[in-house]
Amino acid sequence: MNALTMPARPRATPHEPGTPLVAVENVTLRYRTEKAKITATRNVSFSVNSGDRFVLLGPSGCGKSTLLKAVGGYLTPEEGRITVGGRQVKAPGADRMMVFQEFDQLLPWKTVLGNVMFPQLVTGKLSPKEAEAKARHYIEKVGLTRAIDNYPHMLSGGMKQRVSIARGMAMEPDVLLMDEPFAALDALTRRTCQDELLRLWDETRFTVLFVTHSIAEAIKIGNRILLLSPHPGRVKAEVEGVDDVSAADGSAARLEREIHDLLFADEPEDH
Ligand code: ADP
Ligand code: MG
Repeated sequence: MNALTMPARPRATPHEPGTPLVAVENVTLRYRTEKAKITATRNVSFSVNSGDRFVLLGPSGCGKSTLLKAVGGYLTPEEGRITVGGRQVKAPGADRMMVFQEFDQLLPWKTVLGNVMFPQLVTGKLSPKEAEAKARHYIEKVGLTRAIDNYPHMLSGGMKQRVSIARGMAMEPDVLLMDEPFAALDALTRRTCQDELLRLWDETRFTVLFVTHSIAEAIKIGNRILLLSPHPGRVKAEVEGVDDVSAADGSAARLEREIHDLLFADEPEDH
């Protein structure tokens, strides 16, 4: 077969909606401090499909950030394993971009455009010209074209988070990892940012693994929600079909109460 008749090279990983993409299998994560060993999560398993808006929900300290960092490749599980697209996660990679809660994720000496282009240029994924075109595309998608030449100190918290989202999306990662990205915003901006994220998802159907401690946010953002219990974080339940509930008929409020009861039901001590 010569080059002309070669079939188009398939993508390295399957991206058909609904195919398994991220597999977290029996993962235990521990921190070692000088004084103690802290088990942040114990024996956690879940599977994210391509196109999912998968939410990790649980109270503060239940290990959500720890789990997300492990999927990002910043922490290594003591037990169990994590794969993305069938490949074991061993280090951070451009296939897993992260968006954090903090507003200081941007490089202060670069403009909005410079910040969004930066990972493309560092990884050599695209030429400068291609990187700029891609960055402009995603900056437009998050509604920041008018602020494209501004520096971070000139932006509001909501705008900074939009830049971080555009930067992550511009890399077109297999999965976008979001750690309470809207938690530090005022209520109104938070709601706008949630709506925008859903609109973006509707347009491009990317895969997102989203962490929150807010039940309402989990129901709004997720199509699937994993409930985690604290100390150490363990899987309490998984809620599927979250897209089927709505505020209009009261089913969202019912689900919110059910999740609340599940999360805060007393459970026997594990001795
Ligand atoms: P969440 O994001 O759900 O609030 P974290 O993943 O941040 O929870 O933390 C889970 C547990 O691990 C907590 O008990 C926390 O105190 C502990 N922890 C988090 N980061 C560290 C660290 N760098 N060193 C030691 N313990 C940590
Ligand atoms: Mg956290």
